[in-house]
Amino acid sequence: MDLTIRNARMLDREGLFQINIDDGKIVNIGKEVPEESDEEIDAMGNLVLPTFVEPHIHLDKVLLAEKLRESGSISEARQMVRDAKKKFTLGEVRDRIERVIPWGIENGVTVVRTHIDVDEYSKTTSVEAMVELKKKFKDLIDIQIVAFPQEGTIRDPQTLDMLRKAINLGANVIGGLPETEASERDSKKQIDELFLLAKEKDLDLDVHCDVLPHFKNIEYFTTQVSRNRYEGRATVDHLIALSYYDEEYASKIIRMIEAASINVVTNPCTMISSGATHKPPKGRGITRVKDLVKAGVNVAYGSDNIIDPYNPFGDFNPLSNGYLLAYGAQMNSPSDIESLVRMPTYSSAKILRLKNYGLKPGDNADLNVFSERTPKELFRVHGKPRYVIKKGKILVENKRETIQNF
Ligand SMILES: [Zn+2]
Repeated sequence: MDLTIRNARMLDREGLFQINIDDGKIVNIGKEVPEESDEEIDAMGNLVLPTFVEPHIHLDKVLLAEKLRESGSISEARQMVRDAKKKFTLGEVRDRIERVIPWGIENGVTVVRTHIDVDEYSKTTSVEAMVELKKKFKDLIDIQIVAFPQEGTIRDPQTLDMLRKAINLGANVIGGLPETEASERDSKKQIDELFLLAKEKDLDLDVHCDVLPHFKNIEYFTTQVSRNRYEGRATVDHLIALSYYDEEYASKIIRMIEAASINVVTNPCTMISSGATHKPPKGRGITRVKDLVKAGVNVAYGSDNIIDPYNPFGDFNPLSNGYLLAYGAQMNSPSDIESLVRMPTYSSAKILRLKNYGLKPGDNADLNVFSERTPKELFRVHGKPRYVIKKGKILVENKRETIQNF
């Protein structure tokens, strides 16, 4: 055996367990499974979870705010990013992303889906940088690349060709932002084009949808998911407008989302801070998370932006994002907190359609050993895991000094 984790506490299971790992896989888990092992970790009765999966982050924009002036609204931030993108070079984008990837790994994130802009400004430069880093970091983190037409495909028809080029370079999911188009009709056209391309290339869709309150693209998108038989292969991000619809219309949309097996990703960090409106009363900018979960929709949360014009902070730590969401979406009950811990693990893994993910014999030995016993404690502390393990190897050991050590 390569590695044994003793005294591990698991979600939904009473007692403490021993996890045996060999050749990058979980071999067995039991209460008494004595095995000779090259290396041992004593979890000391604390939680062990499968690796964190980051479902939504814009790695091509990270750290841009180190150089840029302040932005006061989403539209200002979009303009600043546009200006910055005109100056992107492969080396500059790569250097910024390379500084931030280790932050995620130290926080226990070893699988990530990242949206990378593809448009007339940055062309496919950022995708090229990302593909390079995906290879470089392949033993530490698995990366899915979403080719994201942030500036629209109807506004700039050349973008569609660039999306194809991005896919040939290695992008493996198709993104979108219907509301960026000039009219409702064009937004629908963008959605149609995204489905055509996704079907042609047999790729999943992950689309920013209704980031501001007055949009209603979700209804058309949902009908297209069903029409194109894309159930389980489509994700919508933000979906803030859902919080502004009246109860009757919101319930109808939630039922449609559930019936079409569409995943929803909320991004509390950026959206709580920017809100969804710029005039009082300002919204929190968070979709109806609890209603979606209650209806059986697969919901997760992401980091979105890190130190860029949309977000001055961001630490690539799912537990910080969950902590914010707990407040922002008023998820305070034990069952809410249980949902919060499933979102960056099992729910995100479902979005990325990961195979062999979890804590069962035969699953990949990608996991985190924490210093806390309960989900509630995890979010209260929102610290780094004690050990981050990938393919059965210890990548990171985070030492936490406490007063008891003195
Ligand atoms: Zn985003």
